[in-house]
Amino acid sequence: MGRHTGPVCRLCRREGLKLFLKGTRCDSPKCAVERREGVPGMHQFRRSKPSEYSVRLREKQKVKRFYGVFERQFRKYFDLAGRRPGNTGDALMSLLERRLDNVVTRLGFATSRPQARQIVTHGHITVNGRKLDIPSYLVRPGDVVAIKDREHSKKLASNALQQEGMPPVPDWLDRTNTDPAEGRVSRLPAQQDISLPVTPQLIVELLSR
Ligand code: SF4
Repeated sequence: MGRHTGPVCRLCRREGLKLFLKGTRCDSPKCAVERREGVPGMHQFRRSKPSEYSVRLREKQKVKRFYGVFERQFRKYFDLAGRRPGNTGDALMSLLERRLDNVVTRLGFATSRPQARQIVTHGHITVNGRKLDIPSYLVRPGDVVAIKDREHSKKLASNALQQEGMPPVPDWLDRTNTDPAEGRVSRLPAQQDISLPVTPQLIVELLSR
């Protein structure tokens, strides 16, 4: 087995779970976590019983890495979620899911969140017809997220859209086969729309102490 993995995959190996940071590779047998788990005698993901604190901390790190947000920004999302009615953990995940870089990934315009972030910051995305280069922008129902109408932007998106094995577009987004490609936010993402296996309540317990 090849032992080499890039820095991105090392994050998954350190967490001991798949964070889906490398697009379609994550669903292939080339995934570093899959390869390690398939090898008899490899024990790096087995640990002694973790403390309650470390389980909660790990859950938070998992979410931060998946969405690519730093601690300060994550705390802001948490504060915002705490002011929303209903379950704080679900509100937190919904906020993160609404980030523009995540939406660009979910629509299939990029193969990973880091790539989506770059596509957004380089000005290849419009929201409601206007260029928007802020990856942390939170989309709202009715927003139309589109690829900018210029050759380079459209080529970037079509490369991603043509990748095999991309996950389906979630229910809360409608992608249309227009030129340039675009997607509409039909509703706010709910708990069942979150693809990352996570228990948000553990994060709430950690940050509420
Ligand atoms: Fe690498 Fe993706 Fe597998 Fe993580 S899930 S180890 S990023 S291929």
